[in-house]
Amino acid sequence: AKERGKNNFQFYSSNLNGISIRKMEMETGLRKALEQNQLVLHYQPQMSLITGELVGIEALIRWQHPKHGLIAPLEFIPLAEETGLIVPIGKWVLREACRQRKAWGTLGYHDFPIAVNVSVRQFEDDHLIDYISALLDEFDLKGIHLELEITESIMQNLENSTIILNKLKELDVLLSIDDFGTGYSSLSYLKHLPIDKIKIDKSFVDDIIYHSNQGKMVKTIIDMGLNLNFSVIAEGIETNEQLHFLKENECKIGQGYFFSKPIPADEMVEYLLSGNEK
Ligand code: C2E
Ligand code: CA
Ligand code: CA
Ligand code: CA
Repeated sequence: AKERGKNNFQFYSSNLNGISIRKMEMETGLRKALEQNQLVLHYQPQMSLITGELVGIEALIRWQHPKHGLIAPLEFIPLAEETGLIVPIGKWVLREACRQRKAWGTLGYHDFPIAVNVSVRQFEDDHLIDYISALLDEFDLKGIHLELEITESIMQNLENSTIILNKLKELDVLLSIDDFGTGYSSLSYLKHLPIDKIKIDKSFVDDIIYHSNQGKMVKTIIDMGLNLNFSVIAEGIETNEQLHFLKENECKIGQGYFFSKPIPADEMVEYLLSGNEK
């Protein structure tokens, strides 16, 4: 379309099809969602596969839409990333997660971090580090109470990402690579970045069968992670067979519907109080 020069606007405006109108409505709706408190976090436990104890909780965003009900993140996070709205939304997520982490601490649960998903676009925000530092102060948290889940897409701008990750590490914030193995072809970056943990993507865990290639792949990722001194967590565990395979291959942490779906904060409190995790 670019070579059409001055006709650009014409070109686009005559092409306002259903999809772009829907997108615009969605963008407006999303701004409103942020202003009117329609965004909520659900929480999913991360379990030690050795002791059975809860060792972390991941915060996952949902949009409680007044008309359409609960909307899953994959329906609006991509648009939020495209429009830049992910920056204010991401800030809201970080603040809400830290507030919740403090509330759990007040109930006596001090040990585990809360894990928050962070988009690469948020790394372009100059205020991110100061914002996180201020949140830790506001809610009396140590850096190790907060874990950021980032994807391999940060490698697109390795120089900037390295600076940000090192600054986060100065705050003692934990860093994990989400969807590990799905995004980037080179592993060499791993040894240059201050990463604490890798999350084996659900797509690998889905098809674990003994002696299958998928199983071998998961085993290889676990071994590599252990050799490089990363914690390794497997996501998307749904069955006993998957759990068994992961345990046998020395994966020490797991997350998935087998333990619990993501649940609202009040249910998470019940979950913690009931000692369900044991
Ligand atoms: P993710 O970070 O890889 O999160 C894992 C997704 O798998 C979550 O979907 C979770 O509910 C789901 N899941 C967990 N265990 C199981 C299982 O055993 N079986 C199945 N079938 N699914 C399982 P969800 O909550 O719909 O989130 C989807 C994605 O949206 C996330 O993938 C993440 O990339 C993104 N996302 C969620 N919350 C946020 C957020 O606050 N900020 C950003 N930037 N992205 C977010
Ligand atoms: Ca995640
Ligand atoms: Ca993931
Ligand atoms: Ca993902």
